[in-house]
Amino acid sequence: MSDKIKVENTIVEIDGDEMTRIMWQMVKERLLFPYLDVTTEYYDLGLKKRDDTDDRVTVDAANAIKKHKVGVKCATITPNAARVKEYDLKKQWRSPNGTIRGMLDGTVFRAPILVNNIPPFVRKWKKPIHIGRHAYGDVYKNQEIRVEGPGKGEIVFTPEGGGEAIRKTIMDFSGPGILQGIHNTNQSISSFAKSCFTYAYDQKVDLWFSTKDTISKIYDVTFRDIFEEEFETNWKEKYVEAGLTYFFTLIDDAVARIMKSEGGMLWALKNYDGDVMSDMLASSYGSLAMMTSVLVSPHGYFEYEAAHGTVQKHYYKHLEGEKTSTNSMALIFAWTGCLKKRGELDGTPDVVSFAEMLEEAARESIEEGIMTGDLMLVAAPHPNNRKVLTEEFIDEVVKRLNVKMGID
Ligand code: NAP
Ligand code: MG
Repeated sequence: MSDKIKVENTIVEIDGDEMTRIMWQMVKERLLFPYLDVTTEYYDLGLKKRDDTDDRVTVDAANAIKKHKVGVKCATITPNAARVKEYDLKKQWRSPNGTIRGMLDGTVFRAPILVNNIPPFVRKWKKPIHIGRHAYGDVYKNQEIRVEGPGKGEIVFTPEGGGEAIRKTIMDFSGPGILQGIHNTNQSISSFAKSCFTYAYDQKVDLWFSTKDTISKIYDVTFRDIFEEEFETNWKEKYVEAGLTYFFTLIDDAVARIMKSEGGMLWALKNYDGDVMSDMLASSYGSLAMMTSVLVSPHGYFEYEAAHGTVQKHYYKHLEGEKTSTNSMALIFAWTGCLKKRGELDGTPDVVSFAEMLEEAARESIEEGIMTGDLMLVAAPHPNNRKVLTEEFIDEVVKRLNVKMGID
């Protein structure tokens, strides 16, 4: 093709592992590089490379996103004991997502890809419900004590550099029980709030935030207050202008309202609520392979990825020479999300419209009945429905994209 669409600035490309690494290559070769004149700064986060570089490559990739602002990431293995053996690793390296999230101080937002022949289990939902989970503190960074018998359970804060300690009794135990201490920091909550307001504004959806503030009058009320202050100080005017609202409500009330809503909002949640609710939402939308994920940093960095993992079982089949039917939708949308953001920041609308055309081509393939095995199980039955292999699905998207681009 002669006239490729020019992507002005660099995209940070972060490669990964197993089946997603195989599909990553296909998506680039078949769906992107033939149409785009794009420069990527490539970081190989394949497990072997992380091990060879003592995980330096992960830190380099995060720094590159800080520099170029926009990145796209393939799924990566988070090593456990079995992986240490399988890949003969020097040590059990940390989750790359954790490292990158920590360095960018970001929040992960997830949103489903909707197609008209895979109706959500909740029939009222018409628009995507986006979820933002605060991924710091609370029960995930707790201390716990198993109480063996009678005694006093206390919470104590000792100020640095002297001053009187604050001490409260949690429970005077008369017998065995359990005790837990949790924390959060204003700085982390504030970063979370900034990321949420940024993302909702960016996606042009209302922001809902919910906590148990009626019961937890210091802990959860602090979350509520920090969000309120962030809204009043930095967003109120912008939101009014854009016709968007910020809505705070009790978590119970939010759950009830979400079920009855048509969707189309960002639901911001504390760490535990987000953990649970994101799994509920993912399953009610059909397949993990139809869920996108983006890390948004309050400093204006964006990293796009698929919500699913490396699809290990399919990869082992692939290694044995078996053809797989693995869904590349979330990976494709990670790239289009990244391209749309790059185009928006660069002021290049043709890059944005290319990404939108690619999304349409991918959606239409499924809506016309061409789908991978995971979707055959959840799609509305239709005589046109046909299960295709990994490569075949991508070829079908290429066909439709070419029609849209006016290429024969
Ligand atoms: P997974 O890769 O998400 O896959 C779990 C199962 O979900 C698959 O076996 C498959 O079901 C189905 N599935 C997921 N994505 C699919 C797709 N694109 N197309 C078709 N089916 C899909 O989770 P996992 O097997 O538990 O984890 C594998 C590795 O991924 C682990 O090493 C983990 O550390 C890593 N991981 C990475 C990330 C990340 O980088 N963001 C996230 C999660 C996990 P069937 O086998 O029934 O077909
Ligand atoms: Mg969970």
